[in-house]
Amino acid sequence: MKHLKGIPVSKGISLGFAVVYLKRKIEVNNSKDSVPIEEKKKILEKALEKTKEEIQLTYENLKKSNPKEAEIFEAHLLVLEDPTLQEKINKYLESQYNLPYAVKSAFEEFIEALQNLQSEYMKERAQDLYDILDSLLRNILNVPKVDLSNLPPQSIVVAEDLTPSDTASLDRKNVLGFITERGGPTSHTAILAEAVGIPAVVGVEELFESIHDGDELIIDGTNGDVFVNPTEETKKQYTNLKKEKEEEEKLLKEKAKEFAYTKGGKRIEVAANIGSLKDVDKALEMGAEGVGLYRTEFLFLDRDTPPTEEEQFEAYKIVAERFKPHPVIIRTLDIGGDKQIPYLNLEKELNPFLGVRAIRLCLKEKDLFKTQLRAILRASAFGNVLIMYPMIAIKDEIIEANKVLNEVKEDLRRENIPFNENIKVGIMVEIPSAALNAEELVDYVDFFSIGTNDLTQYIYASDRTNENLSYLYRPLDSPILKLIKFTVDASHMKGKWTGVCGELAGDPEAIPILVNLGVDELSMSPSKIPEAKRIIRSI
Ligand code: PEP
Ligand code: MG
Repeated sequence: MKHLKGIPVSKGISLGFAVVYLKRKIEVNNSKDSVPIEEKKKILEKALEKTKEEIQLTYENLKKSNPKEAEIFEAHLLVLEDPTLQEKINKYLESQYNLPYAVKSAFEEFIEALQNLQSEYMKERAQDLYDILDSLLRNILNVPKVDLSNLPPQSIVVAEDLTPSDTASLDRKNVLGFITERGGPTSHTAILAEAVGIPAVVGVEELFESIHDGDELIIDGTNGDVFVNPTEETKKQYTNLKKEKEEEEKLLKEKAKEFAYTKGGKRIEVAANIGSLKDVDKALEMGAEGVGLYRTEFLFLDRDTPPTEEEQFEAYKIVAERFKPHPVIIRTLDIGGDKQIPYLNLEKELNPFLGVRAIRLCLKEKDLFKTQLRAILRASAFGNVLIMYPMIAIKDEIIEANKVLNEVKEDLRRENIPFNENIKVGIMVEIPSAALNAEELVDYVDFFSIGTNDLTQYIYASDRTNENLSYLYRPLDSPILKLIKFTVDASHMKGKWTGVCGELAGDPEAIPILVNLGVDELSMSPSKIPEAKRIIRSI
């Protein structure tokens, strides 16, 4: 048995089996060998067939739901049959290079030739070829493919890190936990684990040296412990602990259906952070009194074109209807930073977290913004919908965003499309300048919601995705608490309210402090709601 330690980011205990999700490139060396060329060709032939089958399967799966994206996979099949590519591979094989090297070198020459073409489209497709190369090498070397959207039962995913698009495609039914080498407490792995309600431990050193595919694992997301191939005694101990915790949770969940009042009689609204429709059931089951943060950018990930107005409208409408009469705060797109969307063809930035992110991007790409605002406004006719702009730094951004909103409202009126004329509009306070200037910004909004994840990263100048800087994730230290107090007071002076929707809102240690600072609403991962309500009732 091996015992590993990491940063605990999503509580709970799971016992399961490791699924190692390696995104790293397969290592290939340039040695020559004496394996007869005919034998190498046979292996290649088999690997090509397997790769084609995999591509064909993806194509079939996508054909109905996303025909445009499916076409790309159809093109991948043609690449594998390209005679120029075959010739290049043969050339390397004839010089006695090992098969993986011959394939890799041939592909790289082929890709380079494509990249030299002038067309942007062809250049983009050249990037796709690296994916085909990876699959082919994997099949030559018999490295199994891990498809996060189709996992075996009782999987505990072991990965370097999970990207937002990995998490969007995840098979939630069969995953029992995450263990990653990278990432901090506010990483996407952490946020997703909490949304699904499964344990996660991040920042585990020497992960891939210690855990192999199929190893039996215990993960304790409350304390950050991971046991590899545990002894029977440890298994028994953790099975009992898990049972105890589950019983406590059950009781808490029953109480969570009711509103939470402090001992002094103040009601604190407890809402859910959601990223997609998949989170709605869990949020309602856990006692969410609405949605305090709907991260709409997840609708835009893992696809080749932006969702249409209709697709967005449907998604927002369902959430509005399911939570009615409770509020649903729809945050407009927060793209940029660590959430990149290749099809938007955005300029590469040296510092994406300090770049054209969120509202900055929407104010540049007005059509994208308008489509989303139209969809949100239309959904507002079906429930209690509010709009929230992310990453506001100065009041001019609110003024400009509201100008676009008013244009969209005018269009809808002209088209006789119903929407809530009195829809409330708020901002995320997640950039220090916004918090420090809350007294001025409050006149332009109906509410504030403090994003402590970004506020902490920007106050301490420390990248929230970098596990080496997790010691600077100090949202309960005085610099952040001062800004929270300042923001809350500014809103109350004008009869408005302030919520917190960063990870801090669901932190048991933070809840009494936030309530005492006067915060009116807390929005968090659904799985944290029952415990949060218990704490509020004890204050
Ligand atoms: C935040 O920054 O605290 C927040 C809630 O937004 P996100 O984590 O989506 O950036
Ligand atoms: Mg944020």
